[in-house]
Amino acid sequence: MNLSGRELLDAIASEIVVCTKCRLHKSRKKAVPGEGSPHSQIMFIGEGPGRSEDVEGRPFVGQAGKFLDTLICGVGLAREHTFICNIVRCRPPRNREPRPDEIQACTPYLERQIKVIQPRVIVTLGKCSTAHIFSKINLPFNSITQAHGKALDRTILGMQVTVFPTFHPAAALYSVKYKEQLAEDFRVLKSELFEKGLVTGSS
Ligand code: URA
Repeated sequence: MNLSGRELLDAIASEIVVCTKCRLHKSRKKAVPGEGSPHSQIMFIGEGPGRSEDVEGRPFVGQAGKFLDTLICGVGLAREHTFICNIVRCRPPRNREPRPDEIQACTPYLERQIKVIQPRVIVTLGKCSTAHIFSKINLPFNSITQAHGKALDRTILGMQVTVFPTFHPAAALYSVKYKEQLAEDFRVLKSELFEKGLVTGSS
């Protein structure tokens, strides 16, 4: 039986919501599988759920998410036509960084979602997701300050994908500098998407 992309994503999500593969499941309220279209050409990957996401079971619904929505809208996309998820799917206590063993336990879900969606563009939001995706494409990761704003055409999981690293939108909540850099990166992203025919209007 051939399952549709939606059915495959739903099957992955139903595994994530009951997952106990790492310690993070013990302190979560709700796991956050990620959400969006199985036909999405662009995927956004954050770090891990925060307080609001843990309560709602949905990614990027807090303050950082509101800013991300504005950025997505600014490139001419609707949030529901993208796919948004995180490196780890359960909230790390006190929003600490996910640990290597937690990332290792959780990212097979990400790989399965990437294989179902087959996005043309993967936008990594912040250090954690950029470092993880760079490791998958055999690129050394030094810092997000060095890596951000540059589109990289690479093969990931046997697929041709453009990886576009940028800052985490939460950084914009406490620093005008990061807010401006995110806005500038999304201008670059918009022209990349326009060149690929994924949005209309380049400015
Ligand atoms: N920060 C993240 O990295 N992901 C979310 O879903 C929310 C905040």
